[in-house]
Amino acid sequence: MTHINHHPESAWLEAYARGELYGGKALLLAAHLEYCPVCRQRLAQAEQTLAKACWSEPVTAGDDPQLESMLSQMMTSLPQAPLREPEPEAPIELQLEHRRFVLPRVLSRQVHRMGSWSKLPGGLHQARLETQADDDRFFFIHMEANSGVPQHTHHGDEVTLVLHGGFADDRGEYKVGDFIHLDGRHEHQPHTDADEDCLVISALDQPLQFTSGLARLLNPLSHLFFR
Ligand SMILES: [Zn+2]
Repeated sequence: MTHINHHPESAWLEAYARGELYGGKALLLAAHLEYCPVCRQRLAQAEQTLAKACWSEPVTAGDDPQLESMLSQMMTSLPQAPLREPEPEAPIELQLEHRRFVLPRVLSRQVHRMGSWSKLPGGLHQARLETQADDDRFFFIHMEANSGVPQHTHHGDEVTLVLHGGFADDRGEYKVGDFIHLDGRHEHQPHTDADEDCLVISALDQPLQFTSGLARLLNPLSHLFFR
C-alpha cells in the first residue's frame, strides 16, 4: 500500500518506456519511480507491451546477412563471467542550514550541480540545479512550516515532486513522492500548514506568473523564481 496519491499521466510513462520523455519530466518521473511501486508496475507493463509489439513482426536473421553477422558478433562478445551487481550508492543528503534531507538516488547524483540557497520573502528558500535537460530549469524549493508561494499560474509546464514533508493548494494535499503537473490552465497558491515544512523539486520551462492582489507586483521579479 502506498501513500502516494498523485502520479504521472499514462502517456508520460509510456513515452518514458520508449525512451522518448526528456528534460524535467524524465528526471522527475525517474525520481518518482523510486518512491512509487504503483508506477514501477505501470512502467513494467508498458515495457512488456512494447516488447511484445517489437517481437510480433518476426525477423529471420538468415534473410539479412548484415543482421546475422551482428547477432553472431553479439553472441561471441557476451561476457563469460556473470555480471556483478553494482554496489548500492550511499544516499547523498541535501543540506539547508542545520537541516538535512535524503534525496532519491537519481537526484542525489545531481547535487554537485546545485547552486547556493537564496532566501526569498515569506519563509522560502530556493536553490537552482544546473543540469542539461532541454530548456527546463530545476529548483529545489523549501517552504518553512506555515508559509507559502504567492498565487501564480504558468506559461509553460511546472512539474513538481515532493521530497520532504508536504504542502497543499486548493486542488489538494501533496506528500512525499507525489508528482504534480500543472500548466497555464492551473492557478494555485501552494502553502504548508503550521506543523510541517516542505522540500520539493520543480522543473519549469517558463517563469511563473503571479496573479493575485499584491503578489502581482512580484511579476517583474518573477525571475527570482526562475533564475
Ligand atoms: Zn506513481
